[in-house]
Amino acid sequence: MSAARVWKKCAFCSSGRKRCFTCGGSGKVAPGWQTCSNCNGFGSTICTDCGGSGGRYDVSSSPSSSSYSAGY
Ligand SMILES: [Zn+2]
Ligand SMILES: [Zn+2]
Repeated sequence: MSAARVWKKCAFCSSGRKRCFTCGGSGKVAPGWQTCSNCNGFGSTICTDCGGSGGRYDVSSSPSSSSYSAGY
């Protein structure tokens, strides 16, 4: 069993949530500073890259065996 599953952290978010780009993370938008409709006032949205899980398992196909012979 050489295939190892490694947890790769999502590079587009932190722990599955991104800062809402519509309100900049404040949850309010101008004019009138009403509740941001994009994030419902949370200031952050679920990351679409990882589906809110914060990362994903990546199967490393490299055998990771040191059978690399350094020939002269
Ligand atoms: Zn927002
Ligand atoms: Zn993500």
